[in-house]
Formats: sequence, C-alpha cells, structure tokens
Amino acid sequence: MSVSLPDPLAVPPARGRRVPVPRHLADLAPDDRRRALAELGEPAYRAQQLSQHYFVRHTTDPAAMTDLPAASRAALVEALLPQLLTPVREAVCDNGDTIKTLWRGHDGVLIESVLMRYPQRATMCVSSQAGCGMACPFCATGQAGLTRNLSAAEIVAQVVAGARALARGQVPGGPGRVSNIVFMGMGEPLANYASVLRAVRRITDPVPDGLGISQRSVTISTVGLVPAIRRLTAEGLQVRLAVSLHAPDDKLRDELVPVNRRWKVAEVLGAAWDYAAATGRRVSVEYALIKDVNDQAWRADALAGLLAGRLVHVNLIPLNPTPGSRWTASEPGSMREFEARLADRGIPVTVRDTRGSQIDGACGQLAAPSLAPGARAPDTLQISARVP
Ligand code: SF4
Repeated sequence: MSVSLPDPLAVPPARGRRVPVPRHLADLAPDDRRRALAELGEPAYRAQQLSQHYFVRHTTDPAAMTDLPAASRAALVEALLPQLLTPVREAVCDNGDTIKTLWRGHDGVLIESVLMRYPQRATMCVSSQAGCGMACPFCATGQAGLTRNLSAAEIVAQVVAGARALARGQVPGGPGRVSNIVFMGMGEPLANYASVLRAVRRITDPVPDGLGISQRSVTISTVGLVPAIRRLTAEGLQVRLAVSLHAPDDKLRDELVPVNRRWKVAEVLGAAWDYAAATGRRVSVEYALIKDVNDQAWRADALAGLLAGRLVHVNLIPLNPTPGSRWTASEPGSMREFEARLADRGIPVTVRDTRGSQIDGACGQLAAPSLAPGARAPDTLQISARVP
C-alpha cells in the first residue's frame, strides 16, 4: 500500500482564525530594535536598555526598569516585552536538578521546556513548535500533529525563564547560568527554520544584545530535513548538529521516522558529513533504543558501518515509552551489546544519562506525558506547587 507523505516543511492550514504571536524584542535584531523604538517615539538607545533588562537581568517588570522614564515603562514593556508564555505546571525530579515546565502560549497552545542542572553545566531543552508534523510513531507529540510554529521570541522565552530561575537561585545548587541549549523539545527545529535561526542568534549574540551563550554550546536536532541541513551548513555557525537516526536501514527508518520516505539514510548522513566538514564539529547521532525493533546486534553493526571513520558521536537513548505505546525501551543487556559493537569500531558512543528519564528522551518525547489526550503526568514526578 502506498502512503502519501504530507510535506514535512508545510505549516498546517489555520483552523479558524489564528491570532499572530505578538511582536517581541527577541524577534528583532539589534538594528530592528532601534527602528522599533524610533517608531514608538523613543530614543534608539532605549533598545539597549530594554535588551539589558531582558537578556541580562531577565526581567520584564516595568517597576524594576528604573533607568527608563516612569511614564513610558509600561508602554514599552507592552510594545516590546509582552508575556508570550504563561507557566501552567512545573514537574521536578532528580532532587530538583531537572525541571520541566509546561507553558501556554497566547493562543492556548501548550509547549514544554526542560532545565537540567549538572555539576559543571546547566542545559535548557527547548521546544521549537507546538506539536510536530513529523509523525514518528513512537512519539506522542508526533501523533498529535503540528499546531503551529513558535516565534523566535517564544523559543528564547523558554531559555530566559531557565536563566532567570538559575540566576535567582531558584534551582537547587545556588545561583548559576544556562550554559547549553538543545533544540530537542517538541517539534522539528529545521521545519521552523527562520524562527529557530533567529532564536539561535538571540541566544548567542553577546550581551546585552542577546544571552551571550556560545554557539558551540547550542545543539540543533533534526530527523533529517536535508535541504534545511544544507541551508544550516551555509550559515557558517558553530552550532552542533544532532541527527535523530533511530535506524541504519531505510526499511525500518521509513517506519520509525516517516520523513525518511522523502530523504533516505544515505542522503541524511551525506548532508550531516558535509556539515561536519564545513564546521569541524562532531555530528551527534541520536538513536532511541527500542526493544526488539532497532536494537539487534546486526543493526548495531550496520550503524557502525555507516559511521566508522566519521566525525561523529552516538547517543544511545533508552526509549521513554509514551502512554499506550506498543514500544518500550531495550533491555540493559541489549543496550550494552549495541554500545560495545559501536565502541569496538572506534565510534565514540554514550548511553544517554538516564537522569530525568521520566521527562527526557528523544526529541519531542519530553512533551508527551502531559499532552497526550487523557494522559496524566508520570507517578514518579512530583508536581510542584510553585506554579499554579
Ligand atoms: S520524535 Fe521528534 S521529530 Fe519525531 S514526531 Fe516526535 S517531536 Fe517530531
């Protein structure tokens, strides 16, 4: 039976009238901010002041902006720092070191971000779309489909929220800063290319124009949208590329990652190797280990055959099963063997740290438990009372 695949780059038709996401400072490059301030009848240097409040002090509270004229603070915040995301719920695990936040957008869409604190770093995992159009069958986000792309500022807002919580000492371990960003939340980042790139610029622009996080500390994941990988290669950025491969053979990958019917394993890896050659950066290959589906020894050997000698690192991720899924994580013995077969061929490989496994996983999985229709948060999570 032939299956017609929807265009993976298409944004779905609007259901009813969509309300555009309000404009925000973080959507604008520094020059555009100055123009926006001029249009509001304000001096251009206010752009720098507002940027300092948002990207450095992580505040949108007019009362805290004492360097701005009292008469114009509220209007400036309303015009350029509107609240885009409202926290709905927070889930905490790993003794408070991992915090997942469920957010509601201005139009009611739900998205999630995760802050993971480690001894030497703090990583924010952000969503790039509300839902996802890639339809990977093991992922609840994919089952629900794509609602809409997030704006650059909605993506940045997830990072700023984590930065604020860390800076204010609201995360166990004392005050800190966000050091790493991974685009592995809901959505396929390269299907929302323009907003994701704009967000990367805001995240990596030096303070106060942006958050001042190193490009090398940003990871963009993709299921393999080859033209977008090639476009990213041409940007000349130093961000890390992560390819969610999940199978070395087209037959299985066509099933696990339906976009593979359009861009095959060889094409995806070809684009990834060109990215590695252009940037000098190791490509991450993400591989969710699914019991008796893609974790056979012969598939490990086939994967090793594709990757040996390449600038690559493999992350093996025990599948975080979604409620009602027929798939589950591989047995520990299968995982060890899979890992060993890659390591034996000289391929750097890590079984992803299982901390936060209740709320972390392959791209999009973090959003699954609370968003699947009728689902509830896993029992292992404590739902914090901090957010109503
Ligand atoms: S696994 Fe990632 S790309 Fe696939 S449907 Fe889920 S969010 Fe989308």
